[in-house]
Amino acid sequence: MKIKFYGTSHGGSEMGRECQCIFVDTEKGGYFFDMGCLASPKLKNDSYDVNKVKGIFVTHLDRDHIAGLLDFVMISTIRHKDMNFSVNLPEKRGFDAIKSYIEIMNEPFEKERIRYSVFTEGEIFDDGNLKVTAVKTDHLAEPKKSYGFLVEAEGKRIYITGDIHHTLKDFPNIAKEALDALITEGAHFEISALFEKLKDCKAKKIMVVHINRQDEKIPELLEGKDRVSGELYVPIDGDEYEI
Ligand SMILES: [Zn+2]
Repeated sequence: MKIKFYGTSHGGSEMGRECQCIFVDTEKGGYFFDMGCLASPKLKNDSYDVNKVKGIFVTHLDRDHIAGLLDFVMISTIRHKDMNFSVNLPEKRGFDAIKSYIEIMNEPFEKERIRYSVFTEGEIFDDGNLKVTAVKTDHLAEPKKSYGFLVEAEGKRIYITGDIHHTLKDFPNIAKEALDALITEGAHFEISALFEKLKDCKAKKIMVVHINRQDEKIPELLEGKDRVSGELYVPIDGDEYEI
């Protein structure tokens, strides 16, 4: 399994960083977790066959996590008609927005090739290659929904926190279990508070993305590398890791 970071920024783009877009590539296909930037040009730059994309999973409907999704769905409708993937959304209004836009553009709304589902907590996807379990976070207040994802494939387990509460009260307990990688956000709290949570983290690799006040927070993260048991990384757009 390979993780490629196409977008590592938080609410807005920064130099070298577009909004959150994490690509998990496996032997049998690729899967996106959030799509805050235009993903199809990035796949093309990597000579990656867009038809190999099997699924897109959205942690929550904030712009910095979905801004590229409409474009990706549209290219599957008007340009790449062999694409076949699922779009997994945390709220029905996200589905309604995509459907409305496609209809406004007078394009066919594909339900066979592009399969939409609105998920809640629990196991939400298993195509025999990759399994996704959604865990609710408190980043958004009800009735809005926000989630993190446990991703399992090829014998590996990674956890993507999505955006979490500023108190870190919803920092995932699963980080205390054996994980091959933990991908956590770094925007809604101080780095010192994150390190307190990472003390008990058993993940082999810890990757911190979605960071605000980068000039201050990234050096603080890198200086604290020895405070965690796993390898700590602060990926930038284009970085990839073999898991
Ligand atoms: Zn965000």
